[in-house]
Amino acid sequence: MKPVGRLEVPPWSNDAAIGTLFDALGRAGILARFVGGWVRDTVLGSSPLAKDADLAVDKSPETVMRALEAARIKVVPTGLKHGTVTAVIDGRPLELTTLRRDVETDGRHAVVAFTDDWLEDASRRDFTFNALYADLDGTLYDPFDGRIDLAEARVRFIGDPDQRIAEDRLRILRFFRFHAWYGRPPFDPAGFEACRRNAGGLRGLSGERVRKELLRLLEAPAPADTIAAMREAAILDHWLPECDGTARLRALIAREDRPDPIRRLASILSADAAATVIGKRLRLSTQEALRLEVMLAAEPVIDVAGGPKAWREQIYALGGNLYADRLLLAVDAPGDWRAALAMARDWTPPELPVSGGDALKLGLKPGPKVGAMIEAVERWWIDGDFAADRAACLAELEKRVRAA
Ligand code: ATP
Ligand code: MG
Repeated sequence: MKPVGRLEVPPWSNDAAIGTLFDALGRAGILARFVGGWVRDTVLGSSPLAKDADLAVDKSPETVMRALEAARIKVVPTGLKHGTVTAVIDGRPLELTTLRRDVETDGRHAVVAFTDDWLEDASRRDFTFNALYADLDGTLYDPFDGRIDLAEARVRFIGDPDQRIAEDRLRILRFFRFHAWYGRPPFDPAGFEACRRNAGGLRGLSGERVRKELLRLLEAPAPADTIAAMREAAILDHWLPECDGTARLRALIAREDRPDPIRRLASILSADAAATVIGKRLRLSTQEALRLEVMLAAEPVIDVAGGPKAWREQIYALGGNLYADRLLLAVDAPGDWRAALAMARDWTPPELPVSGGDALKLGLKPGPKVGAMIEAVERWWIDGDFAADRAACLAELEKRVRAA
């Protein structure tokens, strides 16, 4: 593989962890090159340092592990069968994958053989701009003219798209994921048509792999057109049949303060979508599934027009984050949603200043009445816009205990 140029002052040149890693590998005679996201982003002029690093290495994973252990670098055998080990330096994961070629593929998994041929390794990668490699000093390799496709904002399969999809059908989703991040319309026609033709094959994939691609896609700066195209090409039929359009996603993106893949997911689902079913299918965490459930629920309707008092009441009930989720998704609700959002982000709801213990001290007998009494005082306190302090709440509680 021949160099095609050089990155001037690559962003990793002053990175201590990277220096440590290359020292350790170099001492063992292992050649490592950056590949994937780090090189792509650097070529595009943005710094990749915040995301996980992928490197390709020209020796077996066992050799790489030994070299790192000898240098007292923490190393985790994350995918030995596929040639991947992860070095952890200063708490950062650096993924090292031995050069490989596919020996056998079934559309979902591959049996790989290790090689020392860089071009062979490049050929099994998915898209031309994902086969960009860079040395530590910035020397750049681009065997499939990925830089041209990157400059022209085109996602192009390496080799024949149908064949590459047959090897691993996840590449269909990756085609759209990378288009959402780096592409511009129109799609590369050969790639798009191959994805459309093979969409049925997506059903055999694992939820974990699909989850990763769909959430990464949703995180892109402006994924709505891509998702609309996927829907039209039946790409979402199996994994997200609940998707009913992108109108709310577009409105959400126009108002959101930070992109959030789960919230964006909620925005493309029909009102009757079942969060728990989707959570299981896409292997969402318990917390993610719960958020989705709150976002998809019919209630509570967010009362934006009600003004600050109504906002505080609902922020108190939901918590600031879930309130912000529902507010951002309530794209048709009239009112000053910006001010409501600012309140959700900045205002910490107070805690009710009285408790069941206070009611008992006032002579109430233990039992369900205590809870009901405290709830009634809480209602009164909320209706008063949280103005009553502990003394005032105690006085109200006492009044109610007396009357009971
Ligand atoms: P990101 O910046 O989102 O991490 P990335 O390009 O690094 O993007 P990864 O999923 O981390 O994407 O994969 C790293 C590299 O491994 C890709 O750039 C690509 O070369 C290769 N790769 C990953 N998945 C596949 C796949 N299913 N088929 C072929 N090549 C793949
Ligand atoms: Mg990566």
